[in-house]
Amino acid sequence: MNFETFNFHPSVMAGVRALGYTTPTPIQSQAMPLIMQGRDVIGLAQTGTGKTAAFVLPILQRLRQSSRGRVRALIISPTRELADQTCEVINGLGSKTDLQSVAIYGGVSMEQQTRRLRSGVEIAVVCPGRLLDYLWKRNISLSDLEVLVIDEADRMFDMGFLPHIREILAYIVHTRQTLLFSATMPAAIRRLVRGILHDPVTVQIGHTLPARTVSHALYPVQQHLKTTLLKEILDTTNTDSVLVFTRTKHRAERVAQQLVRGGYRVTSLQGDLSQSQRRAALTGFRNGSIKILVATDIAARGIDVLSISHVINYDMPESTDAYIHRIGRTGRVDKSGEALTFVTNSDTGKIRALEQLLDKPPERVRLKGFDYAKPAPGKEPLLLEQ
Ligand code: AMP
Repeated sequence: MNFETFNFHPSVMAGVRALGYTTPTPIQSQAMPLIMQGRDVIGLAQTGTGKTAAFVLPILQRLRQSSRGRVRALIISPTRELADQTCEVINGLGSKTDLQSVAIYGGVSMEQQTRRLRSGVEIAVVCPGRLLDYLWKRNISLSDLEVLVIDEADRMFDMGFLPHIREILAYIVHTRQTLLFSATMPAAIRRLVRGILHDPVTVQIGHTLPARTVSHALYPVQQHLKTTLLKEILDTTNTDSVLVFTRTKHRAERVAQQLVRGGYRVTSLQGDLSQSQRRAALTGFRNGSIKILVATDIAARGIDVLSISHVINYDMPESTDAYIHRIGRTGRVDKSGEALTFVTNSDTGKIRALEQLLDKPPERVRLKGFDYAKPAPGKEPLLLEQ
């Protein structure tokens, strides 16, 4: 299948070519025809599958046909980074269509976003909290809305945004097409779907299995040796960009500091950063000047950096869903990637769940020459004087 099959307008096709897409990804070839028929669609697909273009292209095709200057498509994103990335995809694919978009999220001045909105945009990519501010202040009108997209709905739920979503929905009174994308389908999302989607079709890509281009390995190690093992891996492995996940923000900071002291160029992302600090941290990682990013699950949401070759789970993720999300950052579209997971004795239950998720049990790796028995500092055996 190629993109010609969809009969996109030449101005939309020009955007597809500008981004160098030649073959639609599975979510695109399955979801786009349904979206273009006007159906409500549930897309079960993780990031890295090409899901953004799967909804952006039909939106561009639809909106270019009639009136301009009013918000006719609303895309709700859980994070600012995802909102920015979605806008980038819209700007790239829509570069020849004259359609305008705006990203609306908190942490930055409202003035610029408002000015852009007033200048007349057709597509708004928003984070829930800031959109509600706009709606309360009547700074945005959704009365012309035709398409609503709820992106990464499961993340939205994890981050406690579902009440916001319901509040936003109360402002959208007339019939519209609704598209919901999610990597997983927790019960709360299923309830939301029942309430707001009309006769939806579900398009499921590879169930919730991680992208096939990723190889998985477990690295058994004692807790206190994790940073030493991480450095050893970074020193001996041919990597491009590396994303390291820790369970807590304190640990993300500490591991990043330990790596900095070891002479590595590294940055960290955790929930406490201001928007400008997040941006600064991400810019270096995106442009490749910093190759290692240490982050927590929440802080890493929405990060789309194509050159991520390795995801290293410094701490085992809390659930298989979290594992899928973490490793969705590597092996994007036709690239391959590696997922390395440090495991300790206390992770046995989670390892079992992970083994059930994957097609075949992940390989267990022990590094040659690595001192796995080194005691924790302060726990060295006493050397008794003779
Ligand atoms: P997404 O899942 O939307 O985050 O997309 C992941 C990455 O795949 C993005 O960098 C897209 O630009 C890229 N992509 C999306 N569709 C295609 C396609 N048909 N061919 C090649 N790359 C694509």
